[in-house]
Amino acid sequence: MLSGKRYNTLNDELYRFFNEKVSKISIDGGFTCPNRDGLISDKGCLFCSEKGAGEFTRANLDINEQISEQIEIIRKKWDANKFIAYFQSFTNTYGDLSDLRTKYEKALNRKEVVGLAIATRPDCLSDEIYDYLEELNGRTFLWLELGLQTTNDFTAKLINRGYDKEVYETALFELRKRNIKVVTHLIFGLPNEDKNDMIETVKYISKTGIWGVKFHSLYIQTNSRLYKYYLENKFKLLSKEEYVDIVCESLTYLPKEMVIHRLTGDADRNLLFEPKWSSDKLGVISSIDKRLKELLIFQGINYS
Ligand code: SF4
Repeated sequence: MLSGKRYNTLNDELYRFFNEKVSKISIDGGFTCPNRDGLISDKGCLFCSEKGAGEFTRANLDINEQISEQIEIIRKKWDANKFIAYFQSFTNTYGDLSDLRTKYEKALNRKEVVGLAIATRPDCLSDEIYDYLEELNGRTFLWLELGLQTTNDFTAKLINRGYDKEVYETALFELRKRNIKVVTHLIFGLPNEDKNDMIETVKYISKTGIWGVKFHSLYIQTNSRLYKYYLENKFKLLSKEEYVDIVCESLTYLPKEMVIHRLTGDADRNLLFEPKWSSDKLGVISSIDKRLKELLIFQGINYS
């Protein structure tokens, strides 16, 4: 059933395509990241936690076990038959083609899995990987997730993203050329950024032809470098009201058909330092829905 939200949710998009509810399963595929293992840097992105953005995955289990375990958990909540295997932790194209193939195919061999989502860095995609992804795209519902976070070059350096915007643009070009769906991650509230920087980033991605977007609120976990950075630099954190306001305005600049995969971050409560409001994910989403309604605005209203 469609949600009736003022933006195009991933659930709605998947429902339209598969004609039933499709759930996502987060997987740790056992990859690492060149921004952490020393190839590019040994520090990682400033906000990245020890789990490489896969807070809720189970690294100690085999891919098949992870899938079985999560299907069981989801089925306790609702009647679910179809699943997207989401390779979430670290950089999921950082490896030999044969390694990627083994891992992805393991997930696809499960009859319940109807698609793949792969989170990666734009500098970890070679010609042979693009070609394999193109082949995968022809036989399953596939999307790639790229962490851009911001288009501000100064911030990109500050957070140690480890690649330039042009690298993101090249990857986007190669993926779009092969009709592979791309989802871009953005973070609102990065150090030294104001609302103008964030809206500039949103306007930029609105024109790139990407399939979807994930909005994250910056949060500080005690197991990230950001924790130490914050204690030493005490930059301004967004309040919940400011964050809701920025997300609502951002939605108006995006094309109507762009898929909204995420509206806020998802910190591990046990590790969350600040801002405390970010632990209430459902509360933030409901405030966004309420604010959009109050302002009588919706996704795409300011897109041109
Ligand atoms: S690219 Fe991803 S996994 Fe690697 S350091 Fe940055 S956030 Fe962490």
